[in-house]
Amino acid sequence: MLLMTGNSSPHPVIVPAMTTTDSQGIRCALLRWFDRHRRPMPWRNDPHPYKVWISEIMLQQTQVATVIPYFERFITRFPAIGDLAAANLQAVLEIWQGLGYYSRARNLHKAARIVMNERGGELPRTAGDWQTLPGIGPYAAGAIASICHNEVVPAVDGNVVRVFTRLLGIQKDSTKPAVRRELTETVATVIAPHRAGDFNQAIMELGALVCKPRNPNCAHCPLRRRCVARAEGLTATIPVRPSRKPVPHIDVAACVIRRGNRLLIARRRPDQMLGGLWEFPGGKQEPDETLEQTAIREIAEEIGIEIRVVRKLGAIKHAFSHFKMTLHVFECRPQRGRARAVTVDAVKWVGIDELNAYPFPAADQKIIRWLTAPPAE
Ligand code: SF4
Repeated sequence: MLLMTGNSSPHPVIVPAMTTTDSQGIRCALLRWFDRHRRPMPWRNDPHPYKVWISEIMLQQTQVATVIPYFERFITRFPAIGDLAAANLQAVLEIWQGLGYYSRARNLHKAARIVMNERGGELPRTAGDWQTLPGIGPYAAGAIASICHNEVVPAVDGNVVRVFTRLLGIQKDSTKPAVRRELTETVATVIAPHRAGDFNQAIMELGALVCKPRNPNCAHCPLRRRCVARAEGLTATIPVRPSRKPVPHIDVAACVIRRGNRLLIARRRPDQMLGGLWEFPGGKQEPDETLEQTAIREIAEEIGIEIRVVRKLGAIKHAFSHFKMTLHVFECRPQRGRARAVTVDAVKWVGIDELNAYPFPAADQKIIRWLTAPPAE
C-alpha cells in the first residue's frame, strides 16, 4: 500500500502526496505491464503526430474497436494534413458518419486549415501549443505531446481518474475541478521522464483493460499491492461521482417530403448540434401540439413550404449524451410554396439512390434504411 507524506500545497489536501519510492514503484510496475500487454493499434505502429492527433480525437468517448476502421478510412482518404485541409467539410463528415460527436470532425477540419494557412503546415510540438488549436483540450494535448515528443506532461482522462482515485483511495467527488487539479498534479509527479508517452498510454490501457468501471480485475493488476481501494474493499464506490440527474426526453417530428421520385433534405447550420450534416427536416414537439401539427409548423418555419402529412412511417428512439429523443417519422407531400433555406443551412431535392452521397446523423440513417428496404409490417 502507498506510504503517504505531507503535502505542502496551499489548497485543502484531497489527493495525498506520494513518496519517491511510491512513484518509482508505480512507474516501473505500469511500464513493465504495458510492455507485455499493449494492444496493437494502427496509430501505434507509426506514431506520426498527424495520425496520433486523429486517433486521440476519435478515441474521445469512443472505444478502440469502434475507432480502428474509422481511423483507417480517414487516413486512407486524408493521408496528410494538407489533404484534410484541402477537403470540404462534407467529405470529412461523410467519413465521420456514424462515429458521433460531430463537433470533433468539424474542429479537426478547422484546425487542419489553421495549421496549413497560418503555420506553414507544421503541427505543434508542445502540449501548450497543441491547445491553441480548436477541439484540443489538456487531455488530448498531453497525450499527443507525450506520445510524439516525449514531453513529460500528464494526459488525464476518465481511465486515468479511475485508476488513480482507486489507487490512492480518494473518496471525494472525482468530477470536482479541485480533485481533478490535484490528481493531475499527482500524475505529473509519477510520469516516467524517459517514457512519458508510454506511461500515459499505460495508465489509459490499464483503465480500459483491467481497472474497468465495473468489476476491476484486481488479481491481474500490476498496482494491486499498492492499491488502497482494493485493500479496503472500495472498488465499487470509487471513483465517487455525483448522483445522475434524470436525462430529459423530447419528441421530434421528422418529415420525408416526397415530390415524384425525389425527397427533400436539409443541411443543419454549422452552429447547431450535428451542424453540417443533412437530415429529413422537422423539429421538436411543442406543448399542446400533435406530432402532425409539429411536422407542418416546423417545415413552414424551416423550409418555407406548406405540407400535407400522408402517414406515419414509424418511430426511432435515439440517445445523445445529454438527452433522449423519439423521432416520429412522417411521409409528407408539398402543398404550396417553393422550398428554401429559411432557418436551415441548405435544402435539396434528391433521389433515394443519391442519399448515400450525403452525411446524415445516425437516426436519419435509419430512416434511409427504411426507405431503401422498408420494415416488414
Ligand atoms: S488493484 Fe484493482 S482497483 Fe486498484 S488499480 Fe488495480 S484494478 Fe484498479
